[in-house]
Amino acid sequence: MKILLSNDDGFHATGLRSLAEALQSIGDVMVAAPSHERSAVGHGITVHDPLRITYQPLIPSLQDSFMTNGTPADCVKLAVQALGWRPDLVISGINSGANLGTDVLYSGTVSAAMEGLILGFPAIAVSLCGTSPSGFEDAAAVVSRMLQNDLLPLRKDTLYNVNIPDGISCSNPPELRFTRQGMRIYNNMFEERRDPKGIPYYWLGGTSSAADNGPGIDMAAIADGCISVTPLRPDLTNCSVLQELPRSVAFD
Ligand code: MN
Repeated sequence: MKILLSNDDGFHATGLRSLAEALQSIGDVMVAAPSHERSAVGHGITVHDPLRITYQPLIPSLQDSFMTNGTPADCVKLAVQALGWRPDLVISGINSGANLGTDVLYSGTVSAAMEGLILGFPAIAVSLCGTSPSGFEDAAAVVSRMLQNDLLPLRKDTLYNVNIPDGISCSNPPELRFTRQGMRIYNNMFEERRDPKGIPYYWLGGTSSAADNGPGIDMAAIADGCISVTPLRPDLTNCSVLQELPRSVAFD
């Protein structure tokens, strides 16, 4: 199996390396990652600046491996549409930090995987709900086991958004729950500061707060110490509302 690996934390991130090392036992790994951290850029693509590629083996055994000045979505597009790489699976991660609920709309990690799905490949986004170095290694081993045991039925119409609790044991992992995407509410706080010319600027900070929106959501699985897997698709249509609406209406 050919696996195209990307991320949004950048080429030098621990999570990318851990996953590349773990996935080598499963298939041929190719790497296309941003040259520096691009977290929270969402599904942005670069259309007004040149995209440059620097080939560099992420680990010595990986020859198909590059970094680029583009976004996570650019990385996957370049690999497939400029270089002609044809993976069987696109995996993005392992992100440093959770991508739960509405995070997926801001997430570069999820967007790299979503770009893979849009281009016609099964895709998986992986995030560690924490940042510990050993957490990445254990999470990578768990992802490898999930693939070896066929726990995620790979489909060309589905991206699996996988969130893994920090500090789990790869030899005895917690149960995997298939979940719904929840809503994640942030208590955003813009701190107003002044630049040396006295002009105000704003710096976004704040914390997330749990939003209780029913059973079966991704955040509940993580709160219970389980691995959360949410199947996602690019189509954001609210189908139940569409069914209630007339097919068309004429202006009076
Ligand atoms: Mn990130």
